[in-house]
Amino acid sequence: MPDVGNITSKEKEVMILEKYDIVVVGAGPAGTTFAKLVASKGISVAVLEKRQAIGEPVRCGEGLNEWTLQNHKIKERHFVNQKINFGRFYSPNGKYAYMEGKEAKGNIIDRKIFDKHLAILAAKKGAKILTRTRVEGVSKAKTGLVVHAKRLGKKVDYHCTLLIAADGVESRTAKYMGINTTTSPVDITTCAQVELAGIKIDSPDHIDFYFGNEIAPLGYIWVFPKGKDRANVGVGIRANQEGKKAPEYLQEFLKKRGWENAAVVQDSCGLIQVGMPLKGLTRDRFMVIGTAARQVNAVHGGGIADAMDAAAVAADVAIEAFKKNDFSKKFLDQYASRWMKKYGKGLMNLVKIRRAFDHADDDDLNFFVEKFSIDLMENAKQGNFKKVVGALVQRPQILRLARYLI
Ligand SMILES: Cc1cc2nc3c(=O)[nH]c(=O)nc-3n(C[C@H](O)[C@H](O)[C@H](O)COP(=O)(O)OP(=O)(O)OC[C@H]3O[C@@H](n4cnc5c(N)ncnc54)[C@H](O)[C@@H]3O)c2cc1C
Repeated sequence: MPDVGNITSKEKEVMILEKYDIVVVGAGPAGTTFAKLVASKGISVAVLEKRQAIGEPVRCGEGLNEWTLQNHKIKERHFVNQKINFGRFYSPNGKYAYMEGKEAKGNIIDRKIFDKHLAILAAKKGAKILTRTRVEGVSKAKTGLVVHAKRLGKKVDYHCTLLIAADGVESRTAKYMGINTTTSPVDITTCAQVELAGIKIDSPDHIDFYFGNEIAPLGYIWVFPKGKDRANVGVGIRANQEGKKAPEYLQEFLKKRGWENAAVVQDSCGLIQVGMPLKGLTRDRFMVIGTAARQVNAVHGGGIADAMDAAAVAADVAIEAFKKNDFSKKFLDQYASRWMKKYGKGLMNLVKIRRAFDHADDDDLNFFVEKFSIDLMENAKQGNFKKVVGALVQRPQILRLARYLI
């Protein structure tokens, strides 16, 4: 691999200041989950984070299902603002479908506290967490890789045996490693989001999703309560559309709800990649995890759970790599194959469903919401598209969407 990331020969003279078994770029849920697991096996790991405070600014609806916390053995719940028991999917005609059971059980969390908590858990196992450390390039060394970073205004090099890219939607590290990360705007959702305070929420244990080509074309609006008088409200629409932008759709919705003058205690815009997961997940001495690898649920755009799940698979392979002293792409590809088997196929099916939904008009959306069931959702995720189409065949127009599922 050539030196990459605009490293000039002068910059190459920077002394290697720090050496770790593993360097992780990005202290989001993927990076810190990975770091906790490898550090607990005695592997030295540093997490480099460009922001000055982990988890801030919040660019998130802050919804997270309960089973992810349980699967990842996270016992504390101080970051939970509101427990959720039900979901409602509103169609353009104002009717709604109800979601309950395991799939609906979740939490609206405070990402600032949650992300920081994951970093603290990693630090407690021995991981070094370095904020204000921006990675700007990677180059090859005899015995590993050198990560070039700027820390508190100074250039610092970090030598590592294994490098992990967990740098989220703005990831450049995979590109530095020669992986094609180009995404088409048709696979990018742009979001606008606010946290409102002093509003009235009738049933705080419900999350609400609103669909319709008028209110959120190729996307949806969410209302995620954070108690009886607070909510995270946002909109996601596809980036390839002309006309109004996400903040305008959000303002229109807030007006409709009578929330246009509500106190905004936090607001942000952000991007979500809703295309296929990245093809190359590994190189010699390198793995890419989480949203940087586009391991995201393309239907609802959530990616915290997927980031943590992928991190756990990658951490297992990294621990084995250190036992065998084998950091070749061939060995690390076990991460790609295990992840694909356990999670990747499901996420790819969701991309197909999202692509079919892109061609749905409001009548189709009304019909989907009317026919919605957990079974239908599960079959879609499992790729049992024949069953899905069979269940929806009363509306023959739906068949025109079926070709996007192939
Ligand atoms: C508006 C919006 C709403 C969302 N709502 C939800 C939701 O409700 N539920 C859900 O599950 N998901 C949601 N998501 C998606 C979710 O936020 C991400 O999928 C999740 O954060 C992915 O975790 P990650 O660790 O892979 O990446 P991130 O959390 O993005 O972490 C990456 C980290 O890398 C750092 N970084 C980047 N480049 C560098 C660099 N060069 N050097 C050092 N550090 C670097 C970043 O600062 C960041 O801290 C939403 C996203 C958006 C934009």
